[in-house]
Amino acid sequence: MEGHYESPQRVKIVYSYLKEKGFAFIKPKIANENDLLLVHEKELIDKVKANTFFDPDTPNLDNIFRYALLACGSAIDAMRLCKKEFTFSLMRPPGHHASKTNVGGFCYFNNIAVSVAKAIKDGNANKVAILDIDAHHGNGTQDIFLGSKEVLYVSIHQAFIYPGTGMESIGNCINYPLPAGTKDKAYIATLSKALDKIKKFEPDMLALSLGFDTFMEDPLTGFMLTSDAYRKIGKIIASLSINTFAVLEGGYSKKMDICVYNFLEGMEGG
Ligand SMILES: [Zn+2]
Repeated sequence: MEGHYESPQRVKIVYSYLKEKGFAFIKPKIANENDLLLVHEKELIDKVKANTFFDPDTPNLDNIFRYALLACGSAIDAMRLCKKEFTFSLMRPPGHHASKTNVGGFCYFNNIAVSVAKAIKDGNANKVAILDIDAHHGNGTQDIFLGSKEVLYVSIHQAFIYPGTGMESIGNCINYPLPAGTKDKAYIATLSKALDKIKKFEPDMLALSLGFDTFMEDPLTGFMLTSDAYRKIGKIIASLSINTFAVLEGGYSKKMDICVYNFLEGMEGG
């Protein structure tokens, strides 16, 4: 959609950059409706399929059902392959604002939630921790997994912006709202606390809702992370030594390619 922040361009620039740097890519397999039913009500699936949903931020694009299924399928592939090495689904639309029953915030189906639910159902993992480091709270993911014994949801996000949730922790959903203007040092200190909670949970898989709208030049949010911060963030997460995969959420700046590259370098050891 012309003028919408969540555009194909944001993924294209990252893809070209990573390709140039020698990263390997695989084409995603499309998800099926049974995968979606693990976390979404049938009514929502039917509404996206018929393109009859309404949300002011989440446009009724042509063929959106197919694109949303591809993004979900890619997240599932990343989950399945993460036992061998760290994997990253560089796909859009994002997912973490999609709840059991609603689209929202540029999200149609919850890619990370579908892949995590599938990991547990298919025996790829017994306990999964989701770490959501997008600048926005993943209200959809929290809605889906609240009360689950197999899933821990941990989110670091900017307080008082969309969607307005995540101001406190509740049960298995641990939230770290931080003020606008948060810089590298304070962010990474909070990340360390978040990772301590994850270690205590002893998951056998870690799923990252990976947003790059925490970057200082992002047009939508007020965090002030430098591009170097992503290398450190990747390194700290990799030091947990848990089978890890990541799914792209937000990130709307022109330098998203460098931020993603730095993160992947960090995950690979520095
Ligand atoms: Zn976001």
